[in-house]
Amino acid sequence: MDYRPRLARAQEGMRARGLDALLVAPSADLTYLTGLHAKPGDRLTALLLPSGGEAVLLVPTLEAAGLDAATLPGELLQWPDGTNPLDLLVARLDGAGVVGVSESLWARDLLPLLARLPNARMVSAAPVLQPLRVIKDETEIDLLRRAAHAADRVFDRISAIGLEGRSEREVAGLLEALLVEEGHDAPAFTIVGSGPNGASPHHETGDRRIARGDLVVLDYGGSIAGYSSDITRTVAVGEPGPEARAAYEAVRVAQEAGVYAVWPGALAGAVDTITRDALDEAGYGAYVVHRTGHGLGQELHEPPYLVADDDTPLEPGMVFSVEPGVYLPGRFGVRIEDIVLVTPDGVERLNRAPRELVVSDE
Ligand code: ZN
Ligand code: ZN
Repeated sequence: MDYRPRLARAQEGMRARGLDALLVAPSADLTYLTGLHAKPGDRLTALLLPSGGEAVLLVPTLEAAGLDAATLPGELLQWPDGTNPLDLLVARLDGAGVVGVSESLWARDLLPLLARLPNARMVSAAPVLQPLRVIKDETEIDLLRRAAHAADRVFDRISAIGLEGRSEREVAGLLEALLVEEGHDAPAFTIVGSGPNGASPHHETGDRRIARGDLVVLDYGGSIAGYSSDITRTVAVGEPGPEARAAYEAVRVAQEAGVYAVWPGALAGAVDTITRDALDEAGYGAYVVHRTGHGLGQELHEPPYLVADDDTPLEPGMVFSVEPGVYLPGRFGVRIEDIVLVTPDGVERLNRAPRELVVSDE
């Protein structure tokens, strides 16, 4: 993986915004720009990117041993224990007018830098980095598509297993194993909300045993090379009854309407409005409790957010969830979630698992 094109695009954005340098601490931004998976800790790791010229990776010497310098997109600058890494940064940033700092740079480092560079103006790096990360490149789209298809296969298998009598925790364990079997590096999260527990969108998976007549909300994902799947399907265990079926159908129609509202130039908030209106019309407006979707990439939740009044225009290369739901307290919940990619002429669903209600009856 060659990270230089991403660094070059960041430098273009910096020049357009008048930034002389970018300082990026361990975060999804750092991984996106360099491939480094550094954890924030007591020893500072950071990327220093000038608006022209080569990137510098400031790394503690004891961590540098584990890095392959040849794969790094820039100069490796080591600092041994007993020295102050800020000395190296101050020397390199001397004379810089405007410095963009990542939101993940700790106050521990930022405050002394402000004091030692009185002529520099520190601003957020987000306006440069966010527009880059929100448009996925081919490598990212490929990973997200692979992860989504793997999650679809997990759904096929879990819905064939028979959920009746199993505890939510047991089903979550099965999902975790299946996520890995179907090609993820590791599970990222699992939510199993059965019967009345499904009415809590982020239900903490527990010991409740799944019974006949339950709707079960299954929301799970795993990651491949740092990029996650995220899918929700709601299944019925035995015939669910007319009210649950009606709610399911309302969500299915709302989700369909939301997906087909995705188009280059459409506003993120408009997709949210369309799913809400569909649920309102069906009589479930009072049971809608969350936004319609979130972007997905280096982070499981990242921009764009499909939330009321968000006027971000959708652009080809954006990837996000469309996941309307309704939650009837004490009774049941229904959510259907697909990850979609904005394409030049519309939308591609990355998930293909069935959206018609799956009723297991055994
Ligand atoms: Zn989800
Ligand atoms: Zn989601």
